Amino acid sequence: MYSYEDMCADADRLASKGANRFVVGYSLFGRELVGLFKGSTDGPQLLVQGAMHAREWATAELCVRLFESYDGAAGLWCVPMANPDGAMLAQYGIDSAPTKSDAEYLLSLNGGDDFSLWKANGRGVDLNVNFPALWGTGASNVFAPAPSDYVGEHPLSEPCSRTLALFTLKVQPSATVSIHARGGVIYGGFGCYDPEKELAERVAEECGYPLLRAEGSAGGYKDWFVATTARLGLTVEVGDGDTPYPQLQGELDDILARTRNVLPTLSAHYVAQ
Ligand SMILES: [Zn+2]
Repeated sequence: MYSYEDMCADADRLASKGANRFVVGYSLFGRELVGLFKGSTDGPQLLVQGAMHAREWATAELCVRLFESYDGAAGLWCVPMANPDGAMLAQYGIDSAPTKSDAEYLLSLNGGDDFSLWKANGRGVDLNVNFPALWGTGASNVFAPAPSDYVGEHPLSEPCSRTLALFTLKVQPSATVSIHARGGVIYGGFGCYDPEKELAERVAEECGYPLLRAEGSAGGYKDWFVATTARLGLTVEVGDGDTPYPQLQGELDDILARTRNVLPTLSAHYVAQ
């Protein structure tokens, strides 16, 4: 398993090789949201982010590897594990909860002690429906704490989503890439917005994944970024959709081969403008 500690160790290793490692903010349970940066802060910037859904923790390793292999001219900001509390819960179960009352609450939400399919954060909010983009109107939204799909009490109610949104506004990336792990497809656009469609199509073609609209999606990070900035936001869903989440880690070489040009392609486009 690629744990939170593995991600932190990778971040330290990359920092020793010249990357900038920093703390974006803190999770609900006080874990560092680790950020990485390489390149120049002058000119276009890109932001890649992973593991917002707990059970998709393998995408944190993919983010680190995409960051490591990137050699584009645009500055690259990376938040490999946007939901460390949820990822720890999916990997290590209830022992990862910081207090007994957290543990009892999470067990009651989950209805058992198998957290391997948990998507939410440390208090049953699904971070990828917690952003202010037609918040609470998504087709799968639920309105009480749960292992997945709960929108939260209000938009950006959670430390991790709030931190990521504020950080994104500070960085002002030309484009964002969110790595998820369900289905071998890329989602772009939101509502009436469809910025940089040709570029999105080129990226999708290079990956061999179809570019689709996520019908019924609302409150996602990508949704929010597109609606707020009218810039390109992509959700890259890696894997074939059938692979159990822990086994996804064994497919990372293949997935990396498919996706390693996403960030360089975006960089080349924005640097040439
Ligand atoms: Zn996901």
